[in-house]
Amino acid sequence: METGLISTLQRYSTKDGPGIRTTVFLVGCNLRCAWCANPELMLPGEKYLYYQQRCIKCGACVKAAGGGVTLTQEGCVIDRSAPLDFAKLAHICPQSAYEKKGIRMTSGELTEKLLRDREFYAVSGGGVTFSGGEAALQAPFVRETAMALKEEGIHTALDTAGLIPSDRFMDLAGETDLVLYDIKAIDPGIHQRCTGTDNALILENARLLAKADKPMWVRLVLVPGWNDDREDIRARLRFVKSLGSAVRRVDVLKYHSLGAGKYRQMGIPYAIRPGTACSGELIRFVEETAREEGVDIKVEN
Ligand code: SF4
Ligand code: SF4
Repeated sequence: METGLISTLQRYSTKDGPGIRTTVFLVGCNLRCAWCANPELMLPGEKYLYYQQRCIKCGACVKAAGGGVTLTQEGCVIDRSAPLDFAKLAHICPQSAYEKKGIRMTSGELTEKLLRDREFYAVSGGGVTFSGGEAALQAPFVRETAMALKEEGIHTALDTAGLIPSDRFMDLAGETDLVLYDIKAIDPGIHQRCTGTDNALILENARLLAKADKPMWVRLVLVPGWNDDREDIRARLRFVKSLGSAVRRVDVLKYHSLGAGKYRQMGIPYAIRPGTACSGELIRFVEETAREEGVDIKVEN
């Protein structure tokens, strides 16, 4: 049986596909989106977050660490490049200010947990969504779980950025009912700057899904100052249009800063300027351009 590393199961989710769903957040991603709201899922392996608001500045962890953790007026400053034993720090801290993210489980254990909400899935037309991170990086584990759910008649969705070798990607997509597909930019230079990687394979996999008539919900995230170039927005909408009837829905997701605090908890820099938000003018441009290009969009509020 396959084993995977997950962060959390979010029950009663209504934003990751149709109906009421459980979203499985898998650890690890091969993109580095500047705005990623889940940096704890972006990096591979188990990791510890530090919650400053829980810290009473007792100094126990500083002493136990023997270097690498400094106490300041605001709380602990952690040097993540130091060889710290976070399990030890978490054990010592009286306030649970260090919290481990990442649980290993088999596909059987995960399936059993997911089936607990099958009544909700049934009455709402919902199911299970594999997200992350990049769920497709743990393809054998996700595939096996999706197949087990299918046998139980549960609808499954794969939420992906699509940067996976095409044969593996299509094999996994074939075992799910719906693919939620992110298209972050068309221009390779913009994509590289935003995510740290080229987008040729991502666009190719989108075309392959469309060719296979795999139901897709395309997601277009908008981050001012990063991927709001007007020509590129038009190119994104044109690309979506070119995918044809496989695209069942197009969501425009406005940037939000909810993930910013997690960067502080992990002690890594956050690239998005404070106060960044989509203007009314930008949204009106997207709506108008979508109308011109014949793409029906839903703008998330
Ligand atoms: S042991 Fe916990 S409460 Fe004490 S300083 Fe360290 S993080 Fe803060
Ligand atoms: S693809 Fe998603 S999980 Fe990966 S870095 Fe980008 S926003 Fe984060």
